[in-house]
Amino acid sequence: MEKYVLAIDQGTTSTRAIVFDKDQKVIKVAQKEITNFFPQPGWVEQDANEIWLSTLAVIAQIFDGYEIKPEQIVSVGITNQRETTVVWDKKTGLPVYHAIVWQSRQTSDIVNKLKEEGHEPFIKEKTGLVLDPYFSASKIKWIRDNVKGVKENPDLLFGTIDTFLLWKFTCGEVHATDVTNASRTLLFNIHTLNWDKELLDLFEIPETMLPEIKDTSGVFGYIDPRHFFNQSVPITAMVGDQQAALFGESCFEKSNVKNTYGTGGFILINTGDEAIISKYGLLSTVAWKIKDEVKYALEGSIFVSGSLIQWLRDEMKFFMEAKDSEELARSVKDSGGVIVVPAFTGLGAPYWNDKCKGAIFGLTRGTSRGHLARACIEAMAYQSKDLIKVMEEDLQEKIGFIKVDGGASVNKLLVQFQSDILEIPVVKPLVAESTALGAARLSGLAVDFYKSEDFKDDEVEHYEPQMDHEEVQKLYGRWQAAVKATQEF
Ligand code: ADP
Repeated sequence: MEKYVLAIDQGTTSTRAIVFDKDQKVIKVAQKEITNFFPQPGWVEQDANEIWLSTLAVIAQIFDGYEIKPEQIVSVGITNQRETTVVWDKKTGLPVYHAIVWQSRQTSDIVNKLKEEGHEPFIKEKTGLVLDPYFSASKIKWIRDNVKGVKENPDLLFGTIDTFLLWKFTCGEVHATDVTNASRTLLFNIHTLNWDKELLDLFEIPETMLPEIKDTSGVFGYIDPRHFFNQSVPITAMVGDQQAALFGESCFEKSNVKNTYGTGGFILINTGDEAIISKYGLLSTVAWKIKDEVKYALEGSIFVSGSLIQWLRDEMKFFMEAKDSEELARSVKDSGGVIVVPAFTGLGAPYWNDKCKGAIFGLTRGTSRGHLARACIEAMAYQSKDLIKVMEEDLQEKIGFIKVDGGASVNKLLVQFQSDILEIPVVKPLVAESTALGAARLSGLAVDFYKSEDFKDDEVEHYEPQMDHEEVQKLYGRWQAAVKATQEF
C-alpha cells in the first residue's frame, strides 16, 4: 500500500488539504473557503471554530471516494496564515473572541502608544520585526483589554492558527508552536529562540498563555484517532506559510530568494545562520529550525501585487478573468511610457509610507487599455526590484537569481519582465503548490519518509534577462521618479 504525507495549508481565504507521494507529487487536493468578518473599517476577523471545522472537512474530502485511505498517511504537516491570533479557554476549548487576522488594524492605538513611548528600537533588535498591529502581541493584548472576563480567567491559552489546530487535533493534549510561527508574534527573541520576558511584560501577557516552542520539523503530537478516521497520525511539521514556501522552493542555501506573487507579494531571502537586522525596514525572521540547526530569512512584503490585476478586472472592467491580463498587455509592444504606482494602501518596504495613495503617470491621448494593463504587470515587477535592491544592501552582496511562485507567476510576460528589470535569471519550479510542498517536505523529513537529498529543484521554466542595461536604467529610473512623485502628492 503506497504511503503519503498530508499537508494542511490553512490560509487567509481558504483551508486546503494536499496529499503528496514519495516523489513529492500532488496526489489529491481538497479546499474549503472560510468566512472573513469586517466588524468595523480596518478590522478583519475569522471564527477559529470555523477554521477547525474547515480543516476536518477538507480531510474528510481527501478520503471521500476511498482512493486514499487514512492508514496510508504517514504524517501530517501544518502550514498556516501567520500572526492571526486565537485566545481560547482550555477547560471548554472555546475561543473567547474571533481570531484577529494578520491584516486587521484594530490594535493600532495600542501600537501607537508603545511607539510614542519609544519602545520600537529594542523591540526591533530582539524580534527582528517592526512595531506594527500586523503581529500577534498587540492582538492578544487587545483581547485581554477588551473582552469581558478575559483578564481574570487563568485558563486561557494563546495560539496562532498552527497551535490552535494542534491543540484541537490532540484533544487539548499539546499546546505548542514552532519557531517560524513564534517569530511572528513580537514576543519571541530571534537570537535566544525563546519567549522574551521583557516583551511579555511590555504587552502585559502572562507566560502561562503561551505555547511551548518546538523545532519546525519533528513530532509535535499525535492526532486523536477520533479526528482522523481511527488513525493516530503524527503531526511532524508546523511552519508559517511564507517560510514553508521558501522550503518548498528549495531555497536552502544562503542568498537563495523566492518571490511569491499572490494577492500581495512576499519576497524572502535565506540569510543562513545570521539574523540580519535590516536598515530598510525589512523583517528578520526564522526560516526554519531542523535538528538544532536554525536558518534565518529577511522578508519584504508588497501590499498590492496580484490584486492590481483584480482591480483592473473588477473595477476597471478590462477583462473577465485575471489570466486575460496577459493577452491584453501583449496587444501593445510596451507600456507606452505609462507607469502605475499601486499605492492603494500606502507603500511598504522600503518606503514605509502609509499615507500616500496610488497614481498613474505618463498618460497620452493614445494610451490604451493594453498600455495600462502592461503598466500594471510591470509595476508588480518594479516593486519586487525595490525589495531585492535593499536586500542586496542589507546583505552586502549581489543576488544571482530568484525563484517565483504564486497565482500570478503563470503570467509569462510578468516573469520575463521581472528577469529583464532585475537583470538576473528567474526560475519557476514545477510544483505550483510550494507552500504545501514545504510543509509536506518538513513533515516527511521527520519520519524519514523523505531525505533532504530528495529535495531537488524541478525547474519547469527558466527566464533569462533580455533587455539591455541602458533601457533597464531608463525604465527603472522613471519608476523611481514616479514613486517619489506619488509620495509627494
Ligand atoms: P493568494 O494565495 O494570495 O490568495 P494566489 O497565489 O492564488 O493568491 O494568486 C491570486 C492572485 O494572482 C490574484 O490577485 C490574481 O489577480 C492574480 N493572477 C492570477 N492569474 C494571473 C495572471 N495570469 N496574470 C496576472 N495576475 C494573475
